[in-house]
Amino acid sequence: MSGTLLEVEGLTAGYGAAPVLHDVDLTVRPGEIVAVLGANGAGKTTLLRALSGLIRTSRGRVALDGAELAGTRVEHLVRRGIAHVPEGRGVVTELTVDENLRLGGLWRRDRADARVALDEVYELFPPLAQRRSSAGHQLSGGERQMLALGRALVGRPRLLLLDEPSLGLAPKVTGQIMALLRDLRDRTGLAVLLVEQNVRSALSIADEGVVLSLGRVVTRNKASVLRDDTDLRHAYLGF
Ligand code: ATP
Repeated sequence: MSGTLLEVEGLTAGYGAAPVLHDVDLTVRPGEIVAVLGANGAGKTTLLRALSGLIRTSRGRVALDGAELAGTRVEHLVRRGIAHVPEGRGVVTELTVDENLRLGGLWRRDRADARVALDEVYELFPPLAQRRSSAGHQLSGGERQMLALGRALVGRPRLLLLDEPSLGLAPKVTGQIMALLRDLRDRTGLAVLLVEQNVRSALSIADEGVVLSLGRVVTRNKASVLRDDTDLRHAYLGF
């Protein structure tokens, strides 16, 4: 883990005139899992949206490998190695599993490798291989989360922006998704910026955690330190 993959400096962003995020600084190194934590409304989802260009930033700098990302469109993000799995997962329910996965490779220049990556996703998620021709709306919550993750992985990201992967899932399925993320990180060097309400799950796989409150970073530390910091947990994380 050397160098910096994602570098965010002084990011200020929101939905209208009033910013939701204020002066956010953040770095993610290759192969690092960073959990973004904080109460409801702290700005976690807004942070991922600002990073992936879904909302405009009013101030600050976002760089990948030292080169600015501002104003970047989806196809450029994919080509530069960023994939965003939004809250609610963004699965196209009318399309089949296979069609959804192919969307993840749409912007890739290396068509041959997009096909290889698709096969790898089916190996990684056997339930998706069994349901290749099923429509998105026929899938369970866990299968939809696999599909959303799988679609992102077809793009061979170096950085995954992952919003609430545990939402609506049974604890066992959440545990499987977390284990899979850690495994992917170990095998491929994938870096993950992980937004999670389920703080225990997130800190169980994260290297570091960033705590947001009212759109500002109030602390950043090793996951093991945050897990043991009772005052911080009570003040910002609700457990
Ligand atoms: P949650 O876990 O509840 O999703 P969060 O930390 O992800 O919380 P955000 O969803 O980023 O928080 O919301 C931060 C603030 O931005 C909140 O005050 C929210 O009301 C506001 N907000 C979120 N989405 C929009 C939107 N589309 N338009 C205007 N304001 C929004």
